[in-house]
Amino acid sequence: MKKSLTVFITAIILLLIVIQPLMASEYAEILDLREEKESLQPLEGQWEFYWETLLEPEDFRNDPLEPSAYVPVPGAWNGYRVNGEDLSGEGYATYRTHVLVESDRMTAFRIPRILTAYRMWVDGEEVASAGTVGTSRQESTPRYLPQQVFVVPASEVVEIVVQVSNFHHRSGGILENIQAGTEAQVLSATKSRLAYELFLFGSLLVMGIYHLLLYRYRQKDRSLLYFALYCLMIGIRTTLVGEIFLIQVFPNFPWEVAHKMQTLGFYGGVLILVLFFREMYPRHVSVTAVRISALVVGIFGAVVLVTPARVFTVINPAFQIFTILISLYFFVILLRICRHKEPGALFIAFGYGFLIVTVMNDLIYVSILMSDYQFLNRIILRGNLSSFGLLVFALTHSFVLAIQYANTYNRNEEMTRELMDLNENLESLVKERTEDLAVSYRKIEEQKRELEESNRKLEMMAQKDGLTGVRNRRYFDEILAFEWRRAFRMQQSLSLLFLDIDNFKDFNDKYGHQAGDACLKKVAEELKKHAKRSTDTVARYGGEEFVVLLSDSDHEGTGKLAEEIRAGMEALGITVSIGAARMTPAEDVTKEDLIREADQAMYKAKRKGKNRVEFML
Ligand code: GH3
Ligand code: MG
Ligand code: MG
Repeated sequence: MKKSLTVFITAIILLLIVIQPLMASEYAEILDLREEKESLQPLEGQWEFYWETLLEPEDFRNDPLEPSAYVPVPGAWNGYRVNGEDLSGEGYATYRTHVLVESDRMTAFRIPRILTAYRMWVDGEEVASAGTVGTSRQESTPRYLPQQVFVVPASEVVEIVVQVSNFHHRSGGILENIQAGTEAQVLSATKSRLAYELFLFGSLLVMGIYHLLLYRYRQKDRSLLYFALYCLMIGIRTTLVGEIFLIQVFPNFPWEVAHKMQTLGFYGGVLILVLFFREMYPRHVSVTAVRISALVVGIFGAVVLVTPARVFTVINPAFQIFTILISLYFFVILLRICRHKEPGALFIAFGYGFLIVTVMNDLIYVSILMSDYQFLNRIILRGNLSSFGLLVFALTHSFVLAIQYANTYNRNEEMTRELMDLNENLESLVKERTEDLAVSYRKIEEQKRELEESNRKLEMMAQKDGLTGVRNRRYFDEILAFEWRRAFRMQQSLSLLFLDIDNFKDFNDKYGHQAGDACLKKVAEELKKHAKRSTDTVARYGGEEFVVLLSDSDHEGTGKLAEEIRAGMEALGITVSIGAARMTPAEDVTKEDLIREADQAMYKAKRKGKNRVEFML
């Protein structure tokens, strides 16, 4: 990185050294245009220079005149030494030179802009002019107007006289080459230059408008706006330099305004480029650099706006130094962007490199290097390539913007697709889950039903009385039927004890129902103690009435067990009345008879005074 920076700076320094102006020599040259060359020939060399005199070809016929100096053309007269004094930009003068041409054959000239007004004679004939040449600011009017001129000289040696005056620009004189050649060469040169410049203008205009529209619909992205403005500014500036197309179309366009536009386009372009870079690579471009650029451009821009060209063109070189500094800064940033592999870095680096090369080309082209080192003529064929450099630069930037947009769109699409997938998945997921839920809900319902069913079955199977834990009435009914059939088959007897707690209502009334329930449990416990045989069944018949079913028990055994029960109860402080019955099933004897008899026996016990056991027989 450091190495390339050193090379870059060295190149710039070398360039600045070699474009020092050549020292003026004390003789005039006669250019030989007789031999037809492949391209146009510049009328460069030492010209006669008559300072503060406006001469016409006739003036040279009358008496020979001594020129103030011999000066190199092209070049500004600023710094020419006349009568021991360095000239400033302001003033007026006459230039004169001679060329050798084929007589009677048409010779064509391409005249560039001359600063800032001129009249030109070839072979004694006035052939071109721009603005008004004068001896004071009031008398003269400036105009840039590149032109082409065709003459058929009468003799081989042709005299060229150019009057120039300048009171409106920092520099005066013939700053660019007048070129000569055949009619076809001049026409085609002008045509191709115009075509080239209009191509640049059109390309930049379209790019500018396109990105401006893009910005219109996406105002969040400032880089679009900056880029659009940059393209438009550089585009408009293209019509104000080179062939100056704007003046060709509008010949009366004010020179001052055009000059201001051209300069502001350049200054603004620099600032907008800084802003654009800042928007594109905010991590690499410091705010300070943006602020400094804005300040510098603001000050210089204000000066351009409020002062005439002859003032603001004086400060222009200072801005060019600032431009070189900014270019170096850009160079450093570019290296950083490339190192960080920022999106589009290589494109931008290429564009920037291209711009630098074209700017160098132009600097060398206008420098005297060209005439000193012939080999350069083969490398550098034309000037004003930097406009093309700017176009390529802009183009690479628009590529980067396009790439960034394409990437954004691709990402968006991807994200949308992912979101859609997710949504779809979500839908099916929800559906799946809902179905699962419905299934498990149905299962739960089923299980609930099954559970209820088995609970009922269990209850049936247990057939226990909830409060006392002894068999319930239903079980008793079933077991009685079962035992009755068995006893019938076996011809065995069945005994039944019918037990009723005495005065239980009073007990309940006195101690409450809960105490009553506890009492019922005690009674049941006591009953279970006595009916220990596997065939004995204790059941709660209802309320505070219990039954004990005994199979194959004789009369005495039955009575004895009943009496034991009564005594056991009494020991607990509970008195009960027990009715006992014993039967052997037969065709005319039913189990209902057994219950009825036991019940009646129980009532008999009650009647006899309670707390006793009674048989009916
Ligand atoms: P008796 O000596 O004539 O049998 O008098 P009694 O008060 O026991 O009269 P009866 O047999 O007519 O009364 C039954 C009472 O038993 C009525 C009710 O208050 C009580 N009872 C019935 N079932 C329950 C029960 O499950 N818990 C409680 N605490 N009391 C019950
Ligand atoms: Mg009762
Ligand atoms: Mg009772």
